[in-house]
Amino acid sequence: MTRTDIKDLAQGLAQDLRAGNRAALARAITLVESRRHDHQAQARELVQSLLAETGRAVRVGITGSPGVGKSTTIDALGMHLIEQGHRVAVLAVDPSSARTGGSILGDKTRMARLSATDTAYIRPSPASGTLGGVAAKTREAMLLCEAAGFDVVLVETVGIGQSETAVCEMTDFFLALMLPGAGDELQGIKKGLVELADMIAINKADGDNFARANLAAAEYRSALHILSPRSEHWHPPVVTYSALTGAGIAELWRKILEHRSAMNASGEFAERRRQQQIKWMWSMLESRMMARLRADPAIRARVKQIEAEVADARITPALAADQIAAMLN
Ligand code: GDP
Repeated sequence: MTRTDIKDLAQGLAQDLRAGNRAALARAITLVESRRHDHQAQARELVQSLLAETGRAVRVGITGSPGVGKSTTIDALGMHLIEQGHRVAVLAVDPSSARTGGSILGDKTRMARLSATDTAYIRPSPASGTLGGVAAKTREAMLLCEAAGFDVVLVETVGIGQSETAVCEMTDFFLALMLPGAGDELQGIKKGLVELADMIAINKADGDNFARANLAAAEYRSALHILSPRSEHWHPPVVTYSALTGAGIAELWRKILEHRSAMNASGEFAERRRQQQIKWMWSMLESRMMARLRADPAIRARVKQIEAEVADARITPALAADQIAAMLN
């Protein structure tokens, strides 16, 4: 396929996608997720040509352990947003789906109401080897959703350190969901999750759990107090809500908008997006270079050899790194 062919194909798809054609959006994301070289070339062309139409959505990352109520929350929050006239896209970062062969996140059956509406678009996590790969594809899928007119993008992830960081780095607001429960609450703080979170929301504040949820909230608040916040203009609030009854769902969204205003006013919003773009570039470059090392059989063999020499202490890791880097020239 010539470069002009690739350009033409991408342009056609971009046009359909801009018009809000859902099949075109699905096709575009499939292109981004494909490992085929010609597809990747088309995908790059496509995303580049849509760049001016991206960036306008409110990007929210949502994390929490399995069972905390992520899908119930996304369903309830998504419906609340749709009632307000928003168009909502739901994406997921779940590197474990590569191993299990199917994603447990972003699954349509988990978000019954949302998946039945035309104004929502739900896409499971791409199943691709590394976290870096999965995150890169989700980031591009997010841009495609924005170009297709979705003005809120919710990115779900499981409560595992590295994927949380990846989702935090592609969103404007990072929401950590927690359960009211014995001793459970301070764990998040130990894991460093709380340093990433722009808000902690304790779900299942209903029925017998109501009092316990408020108690947990108080514990989180005092724990957050001793940590220095990421921004001097935003102290992560701790709220309680019930995804099941919908109580407090509107408040979650209000806080997200409040954060956006505060970040816009201080200039941190634009700065966070700029830094994310730069980080993204470097991580793409890193994975490209790693891919080159793996792709060429001769290089691969030589790298293995160097690796063995390092293991046997015959050459220093520094010299080995020099030799490998030289092969990328
Ligand atoms: P996920 O694994 O984080 O996506 O969690 P789910 O959304 O699948 O929810 C796990 C279980 O918790 C389900 O049985 C839900 O019905 C239940 N659940 C979710 N939100 C609430 C809530 O606000 N209150 C109560 N009581 N149960 C909830």
